[in-house]
Amino acid sequence: MSMSIGTPGSADAVRLILLGSGELGREVALEAIRLGVEVLAVDRYAGAPAMQVAHRSAVVDMTDGAALRALLEQERARPHGQLLVVPEIEAIATEVLVELEADGLRVIPTARAARLTMDREGIRRLAAEELNLPTSPYRFCRSSEEVAEAIVAVGVPCVVKPVMSSSGKGQSVVRSLDGGAEAWAFAQVGTRADAGAVIVEGFVDFDYEITLLTVRHVGGTSFCAPIGHVQVDGDYRESWQPQPMTGAALDAAREVALKVTDALGGWGLFGVELFVRGNEVLFSEVSPRPHDTGMVTMATQALSEFALHARAILGLPVPAGEVPLLAPAGASAVVLAAAAGSPVYEGLDEALASDPSVSVRLFGKPEASKPRRLGVALAVAEDVEQARARAVAAAGAIRVR
Ligand code: AMP
Repeated sequence: MSMSIGTPGSADAVRLILLGSGELGREVALEAIRLGVEVLAVDRYAGAPAMQVAHRSAVVDMTDGAALRALLEQERARPHGQLLVVPEIEAIATEVLVELEADGLRVIPTARAARLTMDREGIRRLAAEELNLPTSPYRFCRSSEEVAEAIVAVGVPCVVKPVMSSSGKGQSVVRSLDGGAEAWAFAQVGTRADAGAVIVEGFVDFDYEITLLTVRHVGGTSFCAPIGHVQVDGDYRESWQPQPMTGAALDAAREVALKVTDALGGWGLFGVELFVRGNEVLFSEVSPRPHDTGMVTMATQALSEFALHARAILGLPVPAGEVPLLAPAGASAVVLAAAAGSPVYEGLDEALASDPSVSVRLFGKPEASKPRRLGVALAVAEDVEQARARAVAAAGAIRVR
């Protein structure tokens, strides 16, 4: 299903509709544009990072099914060669994607993948109950009383998270059996849509956690080297590649990733989140799209996760087996907002002078609200420790006003 690529704006253009225009979407847009694709960037606010680089943009509340459908129908009616709908966020009225896909619209990787991963319940039940992949014990709850019961069933410590949330919002660790009411109330504040439901899952005392970037493409399935990361309050702060692993753990991780991505189907890059304890690998989550911790691949791989996503989507070749690394190791460290308002950055000169292997991405986000991620520093080195030190030092040199 390889495609011919017409000139952007012409009737033969391959038009990519990016649903979500944050920093990950911006890199997907840039990689698609490099291959001659026309990009329409969509988000609920104007001036979002991907909009700043796309051919066109649209401000639409993508959780509003009628508004999303109207946009997609309108774009379908405009002359084009191929139309590709590429979700870059979870909070989308995915039932509209399912309906339009049945009517011939191409959704990346599939509308079902977008629907199953838009909340924690669909994907967890698929992985644990249908695919029998190992996960932490869990229960889904819709009231404070159900949470209290689930804490007893799952045991403490456990983690309570809104079913619809990301970046750790509303997530808390419960350490005593009577902590249910508080965790439920905290999750209600953090929930992204007013769905209310939460997952109560056993706390995993993992040795380390990884993101295994997995690419489904015209030639089969390929893997990137495992990415290790640290999270603070459920939000990523540092990532590195490769995460050292035993051969047995890496094999197990690839097996889990292959099963879950095969079940979701389609072409594109997936971020499979796994917890590792010894040689045991537990499935946590999967994004059917580039992953924030995978930004490190902009420094470590000739084809970043964004370039791989673009190639896979377009039916273009992707390296078979394991995607090669350019350096023995690499790392990323995030730059966070210090205060609300329109950010101004200083210290870029120091950050880049600290080491020639350092590079920086600033996302151009129009409004900073603490602790929003505004940029990332990247570095490569002879080993992971050195790469992390360089990335952290560079990120720390950047001051946000
Ligand atoms: P999530 O939003 O589910 O990806 O969670 C964000 C981060 O919180 C994970 O990357 C882990 O560091 C931590 N976390 C989430 N669930 C668990 C768990 N069951 N046990 C231990 N840590 C967890």
